[in-house]
Amino acid sequence: MTKVLVLAEVKNGKLRNVSFEVLTVAAQIANGGEIAACVFGCDAEKYGPELGKYGAQKVYVLENEELNHYTPDGYKQALLTIIEEMQPDVVLTGHTSIGKDIFPLAAARLNAAVISDAIQVEVGGSIVFTRPIYSGKAYQKKEVTEGLVMATIRPNNIDAVENQASGETIKLLTEIKDLRTVVREVVQKASGKVDLSEAKVIISGGRGVKGAEGFKTLQALADVLGGAVGASRGACDAEYCDYSLQIGQTGKVVTPDLYIACGISGAIQHLAGMSSSKVIVAINKDPEANIFHIADYGIVGDLFEVVPLLTEEFKKLIAENQAVTN
Ligand SMILES: Cc1cc2nc3c(=O)[nH]c(=O)nc-3n(C[C@H](O)[C@H](O)[C@H](O)COP(=O)(O)OP(=O)(O)OC[C@H]3O[C@@H](n4cnc5c(N)ncnc54)[C@H](O)[C@@H]3O)c2cc1C
Repeated sequence: MTKVLVLAEVKNGKLRNVSFEVLTVAAQIANGGEIAACVFGCDAEKYGPELGKYGAQKVYVLENEELNHYTPDGYKQALLTIIEEMQPDVVLTGHTSIGKDIFPLAAARLNAAVISDAIQVEVGGSIVFTRPIYSGKAYQKKEVTEGLVMATIRPNNIDAVENQASGETIKLLTEIKDLRTVVREVVQKASGKVDLSEAKVIISGGRGVKGAEGFKTLQALADVLGGAVGASRGACDAEYCDYSLQIGQTGKVVTPDLYIACGISGAIQHLAGMSSSKVIVAINKDPEANIFHIADYGIVGDLFEVVPLLTEEFKKLIAENQAVTN
């Protein structure tokens, strides 16, 4: 029987959706075995029931004010405590900034294997994780044969399934000591109403957007569709928007249901971050632009004409749908 532990993540007082997706993967791997989650911070206990709903039979809670904000050494101590308590075979978390940072650290201490950015898991005689390599040009399959394995799962790639179970909450006490990093203040960006890495719809702008003002046109469409705005590195380098919006090889990797690329040429480094999107729409005035090779729908035209038209049309459609449901 496989024992699986999930490190859950909280952002702005809410569990991140990727934690539920990871619990769904955990259920697949556990295959009738034990599934537990762990969550850290002063008010961590309140997240227990929701994690239970998504399949965590046990929720390990480590309430300590040193864990209210992520620090690599604080989280490492906390995670190692839970692993020692539960003795899992597999530990999972989201392929987020925290997951990417903490798993290699903890794995090095435990001499465990790390598999990062898994997009698919097959469970038969063994567990096989699939992950993209070479900027998404090829896929690698990693089979777990023995020992503890720690894997990060790409967000927004696997549907989270609720199973209505309720988990038992287990509170653990441990001293978090000798922290080399102290968080003094967290300054939130004013923009970004929807978390880019978990957004279902992303309207992304490139150098073709021509300035910060142009990004307001994209934001208007994102607002109508309840999505987030992203960007190419070209747009970030040109200071049209903040680097936190950058998608690609050296930016964020996203997997939304709908990705609308506006004025983006489609360089391989950009595609590395968005080519797994479920539906890709490209708007570009150059019919030869590389982005059209991976787009499901292409619009050859000026984004400053096309995007406002789309915004108006979606507004009308949404209003019509609301009128029908009322
Ligand atoms: C090591 C390395 C890492 C990198 N990492 C990343 C990364 O993570 N993410 C990333 O994005 N890039 C990355 N890059 C940069 C990448 O190679 C490209 O330079 C960058 O993606 C280009 O951005 P762009 O498509 O916005 O600009 P451009 O290539 O200049 O394309 C602009 C496009 O806009 C179109 N356009 C212009 N005006 C309009 C209009 N009015 N309407 C419609 N279309 C219009 C043009 O036809 C053109 O296709 C990296 C590069 C290196 C070397």
